[in-house]
Amino acid sequence: MGNQLYPNGTSTMTAAVLRGKEDLRIEQVSLPSAGPGELVLRVGAALTCGTDLKVYRRGYHAKMLTLDRLFGHELAGTVVEAGEGVTRFKVGDRVVPLNSAPCDECFFCKAGQQNLCDDLLFNNGAYAEFIRVPARIVEKNTLPLPDSMPFQHAALTEPLACVMRGLEESNAAAGKTAIVLGAGPIGLLFIHAASLQGLNVIAVVKRKDQVATAKHFGAAQVIRLADVEDPIVAARVLTPEGRGADIVFEAVATPEAWQWAVQMARKGGLVNLFGGPPAGTTVAFDTNLIHYSDLTLKASFHHTPSTARSAFDLLRSGRFFCDDFLTGSAPLEDVPEVFRRMLTRPSEGTAPDIKTAIYPKSTRIEALPQVAAMEAG
Ligand SMILES: [Zn+2]
Ligand SMILES: [Zn+2]
Repeated sequence: MGNQLYPNGTSTMTAAVLRGKEDLRIEQVSLPSAGPGELVLRVGAALTCGTDLKVYRRGYHAKMLTLDRLFGHELAGTVVEAGEGVTRFKVGDRVVPLNSAPCDECFFCKAGQQNLCDDLLFNNGAYAEFIRVPARIVEKNTLPLPDSMPFQHAALTEPLACVMRGLEESNAAAGKTAIVLGAGPIGLLFIHAASLQGLNVIAVVKRKDQVATAKHFGAAQVIRLADVEDPIVAARVLTPEGRGADIVFEAVATPEAWQWAVQMARKGGLVNLFGGPPAGTTVAFDTNLIHYSDLTLKASFHHTPSTARSAFDLLRSGRFFCDDFLTGSAPLEDVPEVFRRMLTRPSEGTAPDIKTAIYPKSTRIEALPQVAAMEAG
């Protein structure tokens, strides 16, 4: 077996385990070890995510994980053990592992839709001191961090990779006008990434504080629902010649937002229904509108190794406002409390709460880039 760099004399670690609906517990579990091709990382930082909140609230996820499992999927960390046969990484390397990897052999993978892989392999367990990374993810979807990149920035790779996939599938390009519905973490990532790609972004938001936040991340114009009578009219008026948006990104995950989205697109436009409402939800659309406007409806899911890399490149480019997405931080022990708090939707007048960075006590200090750089050096 490869090298090890574990804390001396311990065989357990602290980790968050999802035991049921809204039942997340801090427990002592066995330290993971690396089998052939695998890595074990000491988690440097993990981030909270809307998908995790959904899983927490519902107690399940159709594809990603089941109960009684380690939880959390956005992280970056340091290699403490490299399994037999791992050549790309060694102990001490700082890396970001994606939360999945495709098989590259099935129909969908060969068709360039690796996000739809029949055998997509998921990994969870970011809210822990250590995490095992399966061989396939090590081989296909783990990226080395430059010394200057803090763990908590690198951990944004996964959510941004989903957004980059959404942009790519919507033919986003400089000069186009996009409407983004929603200013939660995903909506804001869309606003920021689209504006950095040179799109003219119009954001539709709910709360007052989200107006400033959406502008900060690059929205040229922002509509607050409470300020307008008809959000569809208000949004269309702001598009060139009032013809509607080239692309509409829906990031609210309600049937109403899905319906608004199709009414905000221009003739020949594209609507990306990105937010996933609960299973069993149905939405009614005006068939004439979709047909005679020749609309393209898309619903992008997840990411591919290629969009993971474009997300990572953008995060390390220096152009991306990484820190501004990280509005809170908490020790690992507080994860259950952080999720309980996330359940209550923020009300008017509260500070924006986008993502919380979770630091295991033992590694908290590494979040400081200079210390991380020293360790890597
Ligand atoms: Zn996520
Ligand atoms: Zn596949």
